[in-house]
Amino acid sequence: MKITRVEIFDIECPKRPVWNPVFVRIHTDEGISGVGEAGLAYDLGHSAAAHMIKEIAEAMLIGFNPVNTELLWSRMLRESFWGLGGGPIIYAAMSAIDTALWDIKAKALNVPLYQLLGGKTNEKLRTYASQLQFDWDSEVTRLNDPIDYGRAAEKAVAQGYDAVKVDPIVYDKTGAGHFDRTKLFSQPEMRLFRARLQAIRDAVGEDVDIIFECHSLLGVSTAIQLGEMVEDIGCLFYEEPVNYLNSKLHDKVAKRVNVPIAGGERLYNRWGVRPYLEDQSLDVLQPDIGLCGGFTEAKKVCDYADIYDVRIQAHVCGGPVATAASLHLETAIPNFLIHEHHTYAIKDWNRELCIQDPQPVNGFFEVSEAPGIGIDLNDKIVYRSPHMEVK
Ligand code: MG
Repeated sequence: MKITRVEIFDIECPKRPVWNPVFVRIHTDEGISGVGEAGLAYDLGHSAAAHMIKEIAEAMLIGFNPVNTELLWSRMLRESFWGLGGGPIIYAAMSAIDTALWDIKAKALNVPLYQLLGGKTNEKLRTYASQLQFDWDSEVTRLNDPIDYGRAAEKAVAQGYDAVKVDPIVYDKTGAGHFDRTKLFSQPEMRLFRARLQAIRDAVGEDVDIIFECHSLLGVSTAIQLGEMVEDIGCLFYEEPVNYLNSKLHDKVAKRVNVPIAGGERLYNRWGVRPYLEDQSLDVLQPDIGLCGGFTEAKKVCDYADIYDVRIQAHVCGGPVATAASLHLETAIPNFLIHEHHTYAIKDWNRELCIQDPQPVNGFFEVSEAPGIGIDLNDKIVYRSPHMEVK
């Protein structure tokens, strides 16, 4: 089998201009094609990832046998020059391409992809409703009032979720501005954050888990300042309390806050996670299959984490391809903890990008049994966006 053609889609959603999933579809001379997604749908960098995929396709993909995933991965690592340095653009591109190749391989063998990763270890995947500060509904709304945080959580629980995630420290009174999270918070700010968390706890009761999200924006002192609140509310874990530029920051927070610490969506491979595992400063690792190197690398990262009893929640904030791919990984790995379903994943402008629409039922996901990843781009929608072709 040989790769004959590569399509790259840099998606533009008219209803959500800041949402840009990047898809790749790789075609072969045997008529089998596979899809992958780069993990840069949000914030900056998507068009760079799309062009990085194009350049790798031109340099390495045409004529390559797609079943040799390990060989291609090491070539992308070493022959791209930048693979050996890490970073989101090269790793997002490598991840998208690797994912598409695994999709082709599983389709060629006529099995669902998880079968190639070790089979079905987890029948049902417990799932949480993620990012309640944007509400949990058909529209994205920036919430301010604690009452609205409670209502958003109620909507998720009514759909069957028994766990929710919120960043209660992002929006100020206007609902549009951001707090400075690098300095110590004032007492009125601390009271507002606690009121939002307490509103969620009061709305959902004691049996629903709450995950506290910080998006890496805190200084280490603010992370420690908030730690007592995170403990008091009984949060399941404390996500990305600090940034990854100095691994000792996570180490310090882990030593001072008595709640499991989660992170990893901005770490790109085995080498990237190494200090956090060796320091035992992360309890829950959150590799993004669209950033950490596709199936080839994500499976290795998850097995490596298992040595340290670190649980896995794949980071998922992308199009339906990212969701579908993550479900195959999480179905196979023994250290799976919980699946993330982002509020963007329930929006029409995201769901229409693929033919299939993976959604949980009563707070649980089950993986597709179709050959490959079990997801196809919706050509009627994706061809409206900028796209490129290499052949
Ligand atoms: Mg996160």
